[in-house]
Amino acid sequence: MRTPFVVGNWKLNKTVADALSLVTELKNQLGAVKGVQVGVAPVATAIHAVAKRLEGTSIATCGQNCHWEASGAWTGELSPQLLADAGASWVIVGHSERRQFFGDTSESVGKKAAAVIAAGLGAIVCVGESLAERDGGRTLEVVDSQLAGGLASIDASSAAKLVVAYEPVWAIGTGRTATPAQAQEVHAHIRKHLADRLGAACADSIRIQYGGSVKASNAEALMSEKEIDGAHVGDASLEAVDFIALVKAARPS
Ligand code: PEP
Repeated sequence: MRTPFVVGNWKLNKTVADALSLVTELKNQLGAVKGVQVGVAPVATAIHAVAKRLEGTSIATCGQNCHWEASGAWTGELSPQLLADAGASWVIVGHSERRQFFGDTSESVGKKAAAVIAAGLGAIVCVGESLAERDGGRTLEVVDSQLAGGLASIDASSAAKLVVAYEPVWAIGTGRTATPAQAQEVHAHIRKHLADRLGAACADSIRIQYGGSVKASNAEALMSEKEIDGAHVGDASLEAVDFIALVKAARPS
């Protein structure tokens, strides 16, 4: 049994004060939630304050990105070690916005994922095809190639620290969600890719999140698919009422 993992990615939103007000509501409503693991990914400047506010709860604080080096002459970057120092326990790598606008490649995502895990944190490795790639029938090929690069340094011993997020680019922030059957097809393919690389038992233990316009009204249908183990949530994680309803809907029945 894999415990579903629902992560709210706040992207470039919320001051420290706004982040604290949201997370305080989440702490009150979800701090003791059972059957589902919850995480939030604030902007870097709010990670420390949010992690402190969440101390003593099971809600994880996550970074949204990192560099692969621990320290040095890398102006503007944050290492997994510094994110851990600030209180993060997971780091998202390879989000499609990083790939699209900041030049992240499958190779750099692989280096970041390896660095995150080597630093003792969990890595959430995002993959997903564009609309043109889906329409061109290339979804599985694109996902395979992103997984090959993104997981290049991951072995079976790192599996407990690995989550894969399948996020079709055409469904992110568009209000257009993959149907549960579309998502399940790609998740099953990802599971097979993981099994071929890491062995079936290891692949079975790895959570695969779905992301792309998930909200309370569609979470239950998506999460009831066999290979979907939680959600990666953008817009619907910015308001407490929406995110709390979504997490509750994502719990296994
Ligand atoms: C995301 O950015 O990872 C995401 C899933 O966003 P949204 O929920 O807004 O589609």
